[in-house]
Amino acid sequence: MRLGRLKRSRRLWPFVVMLSLAACATPAPVTTGISEPTITAQDRRACPGGVVPAARIEFASRAPSYDNATPLTQLSNDAGLTVGRVALGVTEVKLSLSAQYRIRHAPALTEGVCAYPDDIVLRLSYAVRIVHVAREFANEPCLHAAILAHEMRHVALDDKLIPREITAFDTGLPARVGNGAGFWGADAAAADRRVDQVVTTAGAVLVKTLDDVRQREQVRQIDMPDEQPRIAAACGGRLNQLIGVAR
Ligand SMILES: [Zn+2]
Repeated sequence: MRLGRLKRSRRLWPFVVMLSLAACATPAPVTTGISEPTITAQDRRACPGGVVPAARIEFASRAPSYDNATPLTQLSNDAGLTVGRVALGVTEVKLSLSAQYRIRHAPALTEGVCAYPDDIVLRLSYAVRIVHVAREFANEPCLHAAILAHEMRHVALDDKLIPREITAFDTGLPARVGNGAGFWGADAAAADRRVDQVVTTAGAVLVKTLDDVRQREQVRQIDMPDEQPRIAAACGGRLNQLIGVAR
């Protein structure tokens, strides 16, 4: 296989997940479908099989920062809560994903060019990781501690879940980018676009997988139906006296 090596760097989109005491209680199922790239009959006909590509995921975790200055109404709005529901605290997470990879070229068995992805690195990091406790609790040490403790359970869950899911996804990553199959294009640029799409889709599926698992496990493990009443009852029922919204 003739090797034309070129290095590409491409930035994929970030996504945001807002978590809050109230919002977490009603999980919204993710319905956005991501169509997997397919290896076409033309690819199989035109492109000899290559080697299984090197592919890995790098995750740069970091500790959250803390915000105690945002008013409850703003936190609730930012969390997308409907009227009458409030976010006492929010663990704001914005994961950023970028991809870097090389493309090898080989002449197609027909006309055109075959492109093979290799040395693929998906880099995941926290663009934003902020634990908010609403400003109304700044002078309420007991409630502040209760809300903060709740939010820190979200932080701890992410610290456990995200690396675990990445490890599982990492194993299947070569298969998601064709397992060594070549992607055909009429010319090198067209073949490269096929590879771009394949890598982009792999990144999108990773992000969606993380999003789905986080939403599911947060509700299952932390934002259970009795969690908000528990906080409302804590600190001598102080929450009701203070903001009169807890049920
Ligand atoms: Zn929560």
